[in-house]
Amino acid sequence: MSSYQQPDASGHFGPYGGSFVSETLTHAIDELRQAYARYQNDPDFLAEFHYELRHFVGRPTPVYHAARTSREMGGAQIYLKREDLNHTGAHKINNVIGQAMLARRMGKQRIIAETGAGQHGVATATICARYGLECVVYMGAEDVKRQSPNVYRMKLLGATVVPVESGSKTLKDALNEAMRDWVANVDDTFYIIGTVAGPHPYPMMVRDFQSVIGKECIEQMPAMLVAQNALSGQPDVVVACVGGGSNAMGIFHPYIPYENTRLIGVEAAGAGLDTGRHAASLQRGSPGVLHGNRTYILQDANGQIIETHSVSAGLDYPGVGPEHAWLQQIGRAEYVGITDQEALAAFHYLCRTEGIIPALESSHAVAYAMQLAKTMRPEQSILVNLSGRGDKDIGTVADLGGADFFCRPSCQGQSVKGSEHSVKVAK
Ligand SMILES: *Cc1c(COP(=O)(O)O)cnc(C)c1O
Repeated sequence: MSSYQQPDASGHFGPYGGSFVSETLTHAIDELRQAYARYQNDPDFLAEFHYELRHFVGRPTPVYHAARTSREMGGAQIYLKREDLNHTGAHKINNVIGQAMLARRMGKQRIIAETGAGQHGVATATICARYGLECVVYMGAEDVKRQSPNVYRMKLLGATVVPVESGSKTLKDALNEAMRDWVANVDDTFYIIGTVAGPHPYPMMVRDFQSVIGKECIEQMPAMLVAQNALSGQPDVVVACVGGGSNAMGIFHPYIPYENTRLIGVEAAGAGLDTGRHAASLQRGSPGVLHGNRTYILQDANGQIIETHSVSAGLDYPGVGPEHAWLQQIGRAEYVGITDQEALAAFHYLCRTEGIIPALESSHAVAYAMQLAKTMRPEQSILVNLSGRGDKDIGTVADLGGADFFCRPSCQGQSVKGSEHSVKVAK
């Protein structure tokens, strides 16, 4: 492993990261950086943050030994970090609480956010209701149509949802609109970013708030390993899905010094890594600037952002957090792809084998862990970040073949009939 470094003063992880913003935002970014520097180790701030995580979110989340799945794979033991049990159903709330607490201390009464699938919007609307803050969420008009239950949730929670009609009417257009709002209202407005992207200090700050996931695992895993399998120490592998990369950074970061633990990020390979229809920025992208930082992005020869594709809306992002680009470059983390079909197969498998309905995003990590487990020994272990629950995805899944789509291990490698789709289960 090459040496790992925290970002430098201007937020660079090697050649990635930094702060690429218009002059009008320089002051706001400076102000945020100073506020975060002041509070990040402040005992009162941290005590309140952990109080909220415990009493409002329901932390610590358990680690669960997926014993049946492990047995059926016949290899390594698979453990699930249950972020799906958090209030609002995913890891996103961890970060949103931290940023909202900072906004209050900075005297900002108005919160803006942008959202694709709506999960970050729901988490933001939730915490704004909790703290009595005004909340405006930008969402592509196309996504507003596709994600109507989340739009309704945000409205119930008192947020204003603004459909963005420009461009492709999806996440990247909502991003531009949120940035424009911030420029226009910078004095009283705090921009809550939902992943480890954006200009410095966002990637570092979001990672820090999400690192509660990995810190808990480091405490929980030794006891889990001893209790169930007479193993010791930490897992051999940690696996997490990567959209922007916040749940992955949250579980990876505390493990970085544990050099015997492999870190594997799973990107959405969509229809296949070589089809052009995917969201695998680290594996098929190239360096460029998006959302205020330098990172790997999916762009064409002219630097235009390419439309991404994934069955899971939360992984459908044309960039990735700059720290992942750096972890890939220095070889501390590896990045792989899982296709829509492989993720769907893992989704159904987990439902029927463990009684857990995972988010389609998280299903990518589960699918890769199931493949990898078969190549490992029973005394080895894989820890998967189960980033969220799949209630939000049941409409998508039903459209793609519903509950008929299922295959036990005995039929792996064969074609399985769904009500509409014929699916080959990953070997
Ligand atoms: C938003 C989301 C993701 C993707 O975001 P990251 O920043 O990559 O974590 C993954 N899983 C779930 C459940 C999500 O809601």
